[in-house]
Amino acid sequence: MARERKCSFCDRPDSRVRLLITGSTGFICDECAEQAYEVVKEALAVSGKAAKEQEMDWESLPKPKEIKAFLDQYVIGQDDAKRHLSVAVYNHYKRLSQKKADADDVEIEKSNIIMVGSTGTGKTLLAHSIARLLNVPFTIVDATVFTEAGYVGEDIESILTRLLQVCDYDEKRAEQGIVFIDEIDKIARKSDNPSITRDVSGEGVQQGLLKLLEGSDVLVPPNGGRKHPDQKMIKVNTKNILFICGGAFDGIEKKIAQRLNTHVVGFGAVENAARIDKGNLMQYIVPQDLKSFGLIPEIIGRLPVLTSLQPLDRTALRQILTEPKNSIVKQYIKLFEMDGIQLTFKEEVFDFIVDKALEYKLGARGLRSIVESIMLDAMFEIPTTKPKEFVVDLEYAKQQLLRTNLEKLQNA
Ligand code: ADP
Repeated sequence: MARERKCSFCDRPDSRVRLLITGSTGFICDECAEQAYEVVKEALAVSGKAAKEQEMDWESLPKPKEIKAFLDQYVIGQDDAKRHLSVAVYNHYKRLSQKKADADDVEIEKSNIIMVGSTGTGKTLLAHSIARLLNVPFTIVDATVFTEAGYVGEDIESILTRLLQVCDYDEKRAEQGIVFIDEIDKIARKSDNPSITRDVSGEGVQQGLLKLLEGSDVLVPPNGGRKHPDQKMIKVNTKNILFICGGAFDGIEKKIAQRLNTHVVGFGAVENAARIDKGNLMQYIVPQDLKSFGLIPEIIGRLPVLTSLQPLDRTALRQILTEPKNSIVKQYIKLFEMDGIQLTFKEEVFDFIVDKALEYKLGARGLRSIVESIMLDAMFEIPTTKPKEFVVDLEYAKQQLLRTNLEKLQNA
């Protein structure tokens, strides 16, 4: 009788393990393989050899054009922001590899970025998309939760906690990471005049953030939240961490308009005024406008790349609905496909959805809720009735939307 195969490490027979891998002279079971992997990982980390493996292969890193092409798959339009991001990420890699090579004395400084654009124009989507591509630690944090030390809220240093968490508390890796700080406008000073009293949500937090942006040793609470005296801290140097900030800066157009108006005097004034595209003032943003909005000049100085996102017009919304790699429509088609149902939308339905998004002034964010309202009944019924295909035409879309709260709210 043939002898049953056994794991050469734990001796358990084939029948008592889930999987037995065959080698040239022996076998290893799934559990022993997993344990071996852990042992290898730990041993390499201790000996410092693991870091070597993670060193970047400079040649294989994506070039700015490739990074942009990648972003194009997920984000419609916003070319300016994409170009800035691509270059910044590429330079970030360069800076990291320069440090290792220690080539010459020219030290490349980082160029943190600030992206300004109304809500729902794709700032967070850009950040998420770039995260898919990166092989450095990346995290997204929301600036609204931070308050100055001593007040309710999280300490600004906990921005780095998240970064540490994504790389298993390996501070060397974290020090090469990228942090996206969303809603940076929420920590703007409420008035343009520096006040002598403390501004809980604004200036104090900006001062704290400045320390991080400038590059310094920061003590980070490993579990985030508030620092307390007997907590063990992890020291992280932020010199090489790239910060990308995003914010809607609601109302900044007014500041831009004011500035443009005051500048447009004297010869050529009329001509200049005529050239200004009043429908999209955001494109004329300069650092001075951020100061008028309430960011302190030191912070602005540490965010040298300023780029704006354009409002999404009808064409862009239409594209967002169907074109990106994981567009809303593609997602619904996939959902139905998983039930074995072929879902199709008539072309005119897309125009209807875009019209409604514009009408409700919901921008790209609204597209999903509108499609969701249209599809809800079908998603409820169809998995049980299981037709072969389901076609959404204009009449159906209109009728479904009419039944939802969206429409009721609109008419209220
Ligand atoms: P923001 O961070 O600017 O407020 P988001 O990036 O969160 O906006 O966008 C909200 C949603 O709208 C995203 O999930 C995405 O589906 C869609 N969206 C917004 N802008 C774009 C764009 N330019 N291309 C593709 N989808 C977009």
